[in-house]
Amino acid sequence: MKIARIETFTNTLIGFVRVTTDSGEQGWGQVSTYNADITSDVLHRQVAPHALGTDPIELAETIEVIGEKECKFPGTYLRRATGGLDTAIWDLRGKIEGKPVTSLIGGSPGPLRVYGSSMRRDITPEAEADRLCRLRDEQGFSAFKWRVGAECGRDVDKWPGRTEAIVPRVSKALGDGIGKLVDGNSGFTPGRAIEVGRMLEQNDISHFEEPCPYWEHEWTKNVTDALSIDVTGGEQDCEISAWKSIIGMRAVDVVQPDILYLGGMCRTLQVAKMAADAGLPCTPHSANHGLVTLCSMHLLRAIPNAGKYLEYSIEGPYSQQWADTLFVERPYDVVDGQVRVTDAPGWGVEINPSFMEHSTYAISQSE
Ligand SMILES: [Mg+2]
Repeated sequence: MKIARIETFTNTLIGFVRVTTDSGEQGWGQVSTYNADITSDVLHRQVAPHALGTDPIELAETIEVIGEKECKFPGTYLRRATGGLDTAIWDLRGKIEGKPVTSLIGGSPGPLRVYGSSMRRDITPEAEADRLCRLRDEQGFSAFKWRVGAECGRDVDKWPGRTEAIVPRVSKALGDGIGKLVDGNSGFTPGRAIEVGRMLEQNDISHFEEPCPYWEHEWTKNVTDALSIDVTGGEQDCEISAWKSIIGMRAVDVVQPDILYLGGMCRTLQVAKMAADAGLPCTPHSANHGLVTLCSMHLLRAIPNAGKYLEYSIEGPYSQQWADTLFVERPYDVVDGQVRVTDAPGWGVEINPSFMEHSTYAISQSE
């Protein structure tokens, strides 16, 4: 069996990928979100030429070759594009075998606990506490993440005093028995991060994500070593060499690869295995309700070092709206604080034809 066609259906936010074999079998994947139109161009220019004519079963090797052939172009766009190929081929393999992807990688369908993930900093502590408590009460969410500091904020808060106000306010409102996580989004230098971390320790927060600029592994390690709570990170890191460094020095307590930023399931399984060998849990980054959350669900149901929960965006535009418009059936409904991986083959979703009609189409195919 050989890959004969690679097609993309894209807009600026989302780009789906359809792979077709010479025997007519098909699978669907997605390049990573945002600037998906540029990423789809990269897929056709720098990924597809190395993948057409290869056997889907040799995907891991094909992905290695793509990195080597495009060695002058390391970095996020190549990996985001490769993620589209990879996820389409996992879907194809699932459909051929009649199994969900999770079963292909040693897992099984079933439920997964989620944490409700806030993406907002323009929200007051009071309003954040109110909406998280509502999700706890109405849909049974048992864990939440909210934001402190400011993205790459150089120790300057979104507004003065917000971090000091929102941490105790939301933690107290949520009460006992709820998982409490915060995200610094690269906002702090180590000194300030440790100061914030001490406050988190005193307020029942168990997870401090990306306290320092993510590329400063030594800074992050200083914070990890200083605090008793879990320091976590890695969503942006898309090179295996960076992961070797992060895991090797134990810069974090929990690794958080993003399956589509990193280049797909093959490379994420590689990172998850490296983390497992080092005794570190893996809680993937999945900050929107495109395909990445579904891929993370299949991964978490399979790996031995799965973290405690799935990241589940609670923001309307990137969650409910996307889940409603991208797929024929919504794959992400939360019941009693859990989502469910079904036994449908591949990723178990069908892409909405109306999304495709309104997208930009491109094709690469074997001569
Ligand atoms: Mg994050």
